[in-house]
Amino acid sequence: MFLLFPIICPYSSNQQYILMFFDKINKANKFALQNDIILIDTLIFLCKRGVKMIIFFEPVFFDKVWGGNFLSSKFNFNVSNTCGECWGISTHKNGESIIKNTEFKGKTLKYLFDNHKSYFGNYSKNEFPILVKIIDAQKDLSIQVHPDDSYARKLGSFGKSECWYILDALDNTKMIIGHNAKSLDELTNMINSKDYNNLLNKIDVKKNDYFYIEAGTVHAICKGTLLLEVQQSSDITYRLYDYDRLDNGKLRDLHIKKAIEVIKIPDNEVVTTHNNKYFDYEIIEIHNNTSFISHLHGDYLAILEGHGTINDLTIKKGDFLMVTSNESYNIDGNIKLQRTRF
Ligand code: ZN
Repeated sequence: MFLLFPIICPYSSNQQYILMFFDKINKANKFALQNDIILIDTLIFLCKRGVKMIIFFEPVFFDKVWGGNFLSSKFNFNVSNTCGECWGISTHKNGESIIKNTEFKGKTLKYLFDNHKSYFGNYSKNEFPILVKIIDAQKDLSIQVHPDDSYARKLGSFGKSECWYILDALDNTKMIIGHNAKSLDELTNMINSKDYNNLLNKIDVKKNDYFYIEAGTVHAICKGTLLLEVQQSSDITYRLYDYDRLDNGKLRDLHIKKAIEVIKIPDNEVVTTHNNKYFDYEIIEIHNNTSFISHLHGDYLAILEGHGTINDLTIKKGDFLMVTSNESYNIDGNIKLQRTRF
């Protein structure tokens, strides 16, 4: 029995091989003894766990009217000086992560999720729920809002609750989170008269601040900020105001009617603790060899500072990776990382 184990184990993510194996056993009828049945049960358990894998992703980059050069200067990515977004872990059709290593090199994370659920602990839902990105705002982003799940469902998407971890911020940088209107009438009037100075709630931000932006919260990332954003896997944004600036000679579309439909009222509370309704979120600092066991649905890591190793693989600032379901792993070095679980 033990001799057979290494033969089938490399294929254990593929149930077809396991079924072929047991078919052969049945035909041979050689394993009827009680001890062998226990051994087979153990083998099934081990095989169902899948093969341990640490999977690195190729980020997808987007130039933006408000983008800057931090993604090249601080993260060493080979990108333009107007790169605004780096999508590090994504199955969203607008920017899917490509796998950089393992037997799945060249395939997308979405392919892996759709076809090899054992790596995700047989996660029961059809859609991969999160998107991890870095945003470099050299100019102000538009004042915007995202719909919640019930509104977005009509459009075939998740809603978008998001959270920000500030990686770097210039002195006196402010963000917009929430508004001061107390009723729908007041909100509509202030928007119609472009009274954004009085409507919007501005707050100071600095490096290492954390904000949870629930769907329905008016917000804007403001110039001088580099941040890590973890969000529901959605790309629906309703733009309320874009400072009347031009993008390629044209004003970008506004979506004022839809924005008013989804904005929470009242909403002047800034949330600085994580709400784990959609995903768990943790910043972890490592200074010597540390052991972890990944979550049933996998651990999703963004390396924010430093370099070191994960098991026998090198990791450095700017890497995005996942550890598949329920596996033990070690990280060594001087590293700051963000871990998402769902
Ligand atoms: Zn947003």
